[in-house]
Amino acid sequence: MNEKGDFKGALRGESIAYFSMEIGLDERIPTYAGGLGTLAGDTVRSSADLGIPLVAVTLASRKGSFRQELDEIGRQIEHPAEWDPSELCDLLPERAMVRVRGRPVAVAAWEQILKSPTGGSVPVLFLDTNLVENSPEDRGITDVLYGGDDRYRLKQEIVLGVGGMRILEALGFSIRKYHMNEGHSSLLALELLERSGGDPEGVRKRCVFTTHTPVQAGHDQFSYEIVREILGGGAIEMLRRFGGRDRLNMTLFALNLSMYVNGVAKRHRETSRSMFPGYEIHSVTNGVHSHSWTCPSFRELYDRYLPGWANEPEMLVKVGIVPDEKIVEAHAAAKGELIDYVNRSTGAAMDPEVLTLGFARRSTEYKRPTLLFSDLDRLRRISSRGEVQVVMAGKAHPRDLQGKRLIEEIFRVARALKGDIEVAYLANYDMILASKMISGVDVWLNTPLRPLEASGTSGMKAAHNGVINFSVLDGWWIEGWIEGVTGWSIGPGPEEDLPPEEGRRKDTEDLYSKLEYIIAPTFYHRKDDWVRMMNNSIGMLAYYFNSHRMMRRYVTEAYL
Ligand SMILES: *Cc1c(COP(=O)(O)O)cnc(C)c1O
Repeated sequence: MNEKGDFKGALRGESIAYFSMEIGLDERIPTYAGGLGTLAGDTVRSSADLGIPLVAVTLASRKGSFRQELDEIGRQIEHPAEWDPSELCDLLPERAMVRVRGRPVAVAAWEQILKSPTGGSVPVLFLDTNLVENSPEDRGITDVLYGGDDRYRLKQEIVLGVGGMRILEALGFSIRKYHMNEGHSSLLALELLERSGGDPEGVRKRCVFTTHTPVQAGHDQFSYEIVREILGGGAIEMLRRFGGRDRLNMTLFALNLSMYVNGVAKRHRETSRSMFPGYEIHSVTNGVHSHSWTCPSFRELYDRYLPGWANEPEMLVKVGIVPDEKIVEAHAAAKGELIDYVNRSTGAAMDPEVLTLGFARRSTEYKRPTLLFSDLDRLRRISSRGEVQVVMAGKAHPRDLQGKRLIEEIFRVARALKGDIEVAYLANYDMILASKMISGVDVWLNTPLRPLEASGTSGMKAAHNGVINFSVLDGWWIEGWIEGVTGWSIGPGPEEDLPPEEGRRKDTEDLYSKLEYIIAPTFYHRKDDWVRMMNNSIGMLAYYFNSHRMMRRYVTEAYL
């Protein structure tokens, strides 16, 4: 789907400019770290399919995220994941200039045009400061995704927000709305403010802001000392006015200068509203790109029984016409592939007939990857009555020491459970491995600490492949969950507000008792019920939680 091409033919009239620090566009372009990037990639893919006139702007991040290796005790070794834009993109001749530390810095754009089989296409611009005219220090600004200190980050945000706007202008784009995917690009609003002679209402009309972070500490903030040093003193008054008196809060800045602001699930909208009282915050629940996240065996089935589904995922509502045995076969094919991969790459002895739980996401404390292992004796007992095996994966951010320790702990647990329960931790969770896992396990487990999962998207990917969700009621799952119909919940209901200890106790109790008394018995003894839930995952969840629906809503609620 990704080919080189010329952007000018693709563009008539006005476009939506979509800014994101990371975009998971292509598995060969390692410029994404997790959910934010895969969401941005799915946004681009659905826009291309639907013919939405969108142009995406991100950083080249030549040194990418990183490739994760795990040693025999689960210590994370980080290898550079460099990529060469010249192999996959075209360098456009236009340049934009920004000022960093008082110096002019030239910004170029590498373009990849994502083309859809429907005929639509979306240009994606990877901004790059690695140009001969820049000083060695400035050449590195766009190298490392989420790397370096606050100064480095602010420089990147100047290139993304201000440089991005200027390059769009140099390329002749006429922009209807600027969509900031998270606050990293919100300096574009400063640029708009300056151009409009300081008219915030005019700026607000042109900006759309999607926030993804349900905790204060997660919002990008800079001291004004650093702002003065890196960006200069000229804009500080404006930044203070809209981005916070004491520190520049990028979320607040975007919030104050966007007419349309949204969270990424209904619950996340409520969390955001209580964090920022007085603001009108909407919600557009995330979705995933149906075709990209459906494995080959299920694509084949849908193509045969529901032709047209890929560009109209609503058709999955009629998955009931697909014979059950075909669903079972398609899943067995995906599961067989995953189990082979697990056994080959880790030396595990997994069995395709055994109930397989999957868990993969960024390894960080709030995701609680070890909750399943809170009581190993209980887990052994459950497995002795109806076996289970567990496939896990996830990278820890290089600076997240706790996240790294969690991986090591899982390695210890896996050794302790050896002989009773197979647990494998696969290295280097990326989009390719994600595709294998979300289609190849039987149950997709998610145990975040509420309300920290703004939306979550991997469970939606699983649902596209008939994999059943078993998750804490947070983010999207509150909207998708019907107990015993679309999947199972873990822990307190969405309205219950328990003290942390009690919440955790309830979570583990549910996790174990549902696994023992409901999930394993259904899997092994009530196959018809199981297949009905697989069908419901497709017909009730994938039907709705896809990025085509998400983008149609952005168009009608935010872009028009
Ligand atoms: C989908 C995806 C994510 C996000 O999953 P969550 O459930 O939102 O944590 C992260 N990383 C990769 C590689 C993915 O494919």
